[in-house]
Amino acid sequence: MDETRQQLLRQLPDVDHLLQRPALQIWQERKSRQAVRNAVRAELDKRRQAILTGQWDQPFSGEVFDQAVVSRLQTEGRGHLRRVINATGTILHTNLGRSVFSPELARHIGELACHYSNLEYDLASGRRGSRYDHVRGLLCDLTGAEDALVVNNNAAAVLLTLSSLAAGKEVIISRGELVEIGGSFRIPDVIEQSGGRIREVGTTNKTHLADYQRALGEDTAALMKVHTSNYRIIGFTESVSPAALAGLAHDHGLPCLHDAGSGLFVDLETFGLPHEPTVGEVLAAGCDVVTFSGDKLLGGPQAGIIVGKAAYLDAMKHHPLLRALRVDKMTLAGLEGTLQSYRDGTAARQIPTLRCLAQTEDEIKERAERLLQFLHTDDLPACVSLRPIDDCIGGGACPDVVLPGWALAIEADGMTPEEMERRLRHADLPVIVRVQYNAVVLSLRTLGDDELQDASRIVREALGV
Ligand SMILES: *Cc1c(COP(=O)(O)O)cnc(C)c1O
Repeated sequence: MDETRQQLLRQLPDVDHLLQRPALQIWQERKSRQAVRNAVRAELDKRRQAILTGQWDQPFSGEVFDQAVVSRLQTEGRGHLRRVINATGTILHTNLGRSVFSPELARHIGELACHYSNLEYDLASGRRGSRYDHVRGLLCDLTGAEDALVVNNNAAAVLLTLSSLAAGKEVIISRGELVEIGGSFRIPDVIEQSGGRIREVGTTNKTHLADYQRALGEDTAALMKVHTSNYRIIGFTESVSPAALAGLAHDHGLPCLHDAGSGLFVDLETFGLPHEPTVGEVLAAGCDVVTFSGDKLLGGPQAGIIVGKAAYLDAMKHHPLLRALRVDKMTLAGLEGTLQSYRDGTAARQIPTLRCLAQTEDEIKERAERLLQFLHTDDLPACVSLRPIDDCIGGGACPDVVLPGWALAIEADGMTPEEMERRLRHADLPVIVRVQYNAVVLSLRTLGDDELQDASRIVREALGV
């Protein structure tokens, strides 16, 4: 090792010495001596490495070192799970947490989080109650189901349903519906995990009622339909309707199961979108058990909702898996609040996911114009333009639906869009954008009114002004 590097290493003070520095003593009072000691150690290690690899050749400066330690402590303080601004135009972005709560609902959940509640306590009788009772009535009223149950997510709902009703037996399902939902969630894997066996029928593009009929046998436990949420087979296709499949199941004393994916309580046509069956319609068609997500188009918390015939749900309530998949009080508080909005007919106004879906092009364009004003583009080293853009629902729902929206496209002078995207993502409040048209593109559909000011500040900072 050369002389200068050795000298730089020798200059580094020891940890106890550094902890005496006034700027770091303030932080020891704020956090703890141990937390600051750990941060100082980490920064010293980092500095040593930098010196050894020749990336640092400055003499030691106490002020510069204080800054590095304080910045590390601040970053730690922000936590790893953080708020971001979603400027992607994808409403249900699974990577960004899918649906969000209204401030009123968040306050209600916060209150239940900080206080005791009647989670499993029946206030009327003073005896033990069931956590599922808080939402059961609402779910039954909204869907017309006999009974309802809530678990951690829809994958868990499918797992519990099949484990309770099909373990050791066969589930008949169309080949065109053996889908992978995202991440590594595959319907066939979940069926196998439940102890059920898959009996595939039909072909990828066409399955007829007679295909199911031929597959029926002594080992059949259920007929199942899966909503092919994230893709569409178009052209020469045929699938069996829920009503026809339920009819066939009932003729043989079997349940018809339906994994609805998103789970709708309102008609998408009210938002000018193509019709998708609601949960109530699927049940009315005769399906015995319907499962769906709480945080897709329903707009509630992550949850898996199971509605249907009481006899089948009873089997699930007594299955040991229910305990392993059970939801916590915050989820139930969020779900109850969401369901109340549907019951009160205020869902389209109160649930952010639906509000985001319902926005008109004019409303979005108006917000884009306001962001443009906040940005003060006159002095910006960038070309900023207002553009029409295609947004989407996301979350594996309605893949062929295009939502017309508006965006700001920003082409920074002397900076690639990839670099600009990286800077926005690394901001104190990260802004997540698309790169398109050789520019970064901020869609205004998913960017809230209350986020315009922050977004404009962060864009300006990323451009170095
Ligand atoms: C999204 C989806 C799932 C998985 O739901 P999670 O709530 O994410 O577990 C299962 N089935 C279908 C058809 C889906 O669309």
